[in-house]
Amino acid sequence: MDVIVVGANIGGSVAAGDLAAVGAKVTLLERDLGRKKPCGGAIPPRVISEFGVPTRIIERKTRRAVVIGPSGSRVEMDVRGTMAREDDYIIMVTREVLDRTMREKAQEGGAELREATFLSHEEDAQGKVHVKVRYKGGREETLVADALIGADGAGSAVAKSCGRPAIKHASAIQERLVLPPDAMKYYEDLAELYLGDDVSPDFYGWIFPKSDHVAVGTGCRPEHANRSYAFLEGVKRRAGDKLHGAKRILLEGHPLPMARYKKLVYGRTLLVGDAGGMVAHTSGEGIYFSMAAGRLAAQTLHSHFGDAKFALSRYEKSWQKRYGSMFDFLEVLEKYSYRGNKNREFFVDMCDTREVQELTFDSYLFKEMAKVTPAHHARMAINGVKAALRNWMNPKSPLLDSPPQITAKQALNITRMAIADGTAVDERAYANAG
Ligand SMILES: Cc1cc2nc3c(=O)[nH]c(=O)nc-3n(C[C@H](O)[C@H](O)[C@H](O)COP(=O)(O)OP(=O)(O)OC[C@H]3O[C@@H](n4cnc5c(N)ncnc54)[C@H](O)[C@@H]3O)c2cc1C
Repeated sequence: MDVIVVGANIGGSVAAGDLAAVGAKVTLLERDLGRKKPCGGAIPPRVISEFGVPTRIIERKTRRAVVIGPSGSRVEMDVRGTMAREDDYIIMVTREVLDRTMREKAQEGGAELREATFLSHEEDAQGKVHVKVRYKGGREETLVADALIGADGAGSAVAKSCGRPAIKHASAIQERLVLPPDAMKYYEDLAELYLGDDVSPDFYGWIFPKSDHVAVGTGCRPEHANRSYAFLEGVKRRAGDKLHGAKRILLEGHPLPMARYKKLVYGRTLLVGDAGGMVAHTSGEGIYFSMAAGRLAAQTLHSHFGDAKFALSRYEKSWQKRYGSMFDFLEVLEKYSYRGNKNREFFVDMCDTREVQELTFDSYLFKEMAKVTPAHHARMAINGVKAALRNWMNPKSPLLDSPPQITAKQALNITRMAIADGTAVDERAYANAG
């Protein structure tokens, strides 16, 4: 079986490596091998164990997470599920290292990597897929294969070529900041999440530690995208002195899918990861899901390629069975928890409940909907009522209502300056800020 995989980041590389390992002839296409994917780089440990990722790529293990509400209310949580285990932590990586590692793994397994851009594809009456690509330098070629995997991220050209309308995307923007050693010490094993209209009207702002810097970011819906940079400044303003002396080394931005395609299979083409909108609401987590989808797509092709016409649709059925209810739940949670400062305060208050923490980390660490016992339900209901009463009787005022007053024009200038001095690498950060 000949397979073309478009997109040589995590999802595409896992699919390519797995297919090559079972004897398929795999061509892995990447339009820009030098590009760093803008990303917070927070992953559960099972990414390492499940996909054979070498532990040397781990930058930090964060065992504490702090959620900070609009009023400055603060809940510090140990990263721990219902049963405490040695590897209960959030791993922090940089994407350039993770992506390169997975790409090399796929190549070592036998996949052929080519720096080329996917342009379009067609399927002929015999079921062969004809893929038009352009190499660096402009030469175009049509490659022929038995199947195509689209792992080309948000705004997927493969999905477009399948006739899909674009998925709605959020804007995510991030700065990498080097901190003085004392300031860095604070973030050594701790990740911060900030909630409030001043840092994002839709999601949350984050500070994630790496070995030699922190990544400070935020995301918002498209209608607020022209204030992305102001929200990012909002996160830094809230962090205050903790970022004193910080020096920016990178400004980056990228769209984040905000919806899923229910249909992931089009003839002999399968969509994987962000290309299919596989990003969890609430957290914006997509790394594990893209890798898991890459593996599932490879398994489906390997097991069912020669079967009846619609056998490949097993891929979307298996995906839905494994993760559908988790995504549905997180979608509802996001709608409720991040809408308005009052809801966010309630959310922070609820995070102070041991049961909520354990169930959250069970789901995050094990990637399964946590089993909720009647006792859990009862305790969470009681705590929910208590939190609602507390917030109703003693409503908390936000420290800051709105992001710093940065106009879209100022944001654009900041981004242009960052591009000029080489600290901005992605043209889409520019688009987000403007
Ligand atoms: C700012 C930000 C922070 C995030 N933080 C986190 C986090 O902390 N944890 C987490 O789990 N998730 C996070 N995510 C989400 C995560 O980055 C994505 O879900 C994940 O990268 C999806 O992987 P992918 O392989 O499907 O797509 P991508 O990583 O986007 O890779 C797609 C690849 O396809 C290539 N490509 C695109 N078009 C073509 C074409 N036409 N031809 C050839 N190649 C093409 C691209 O160059 C790219 O290499 C974050 C996202 C953003 C934007």
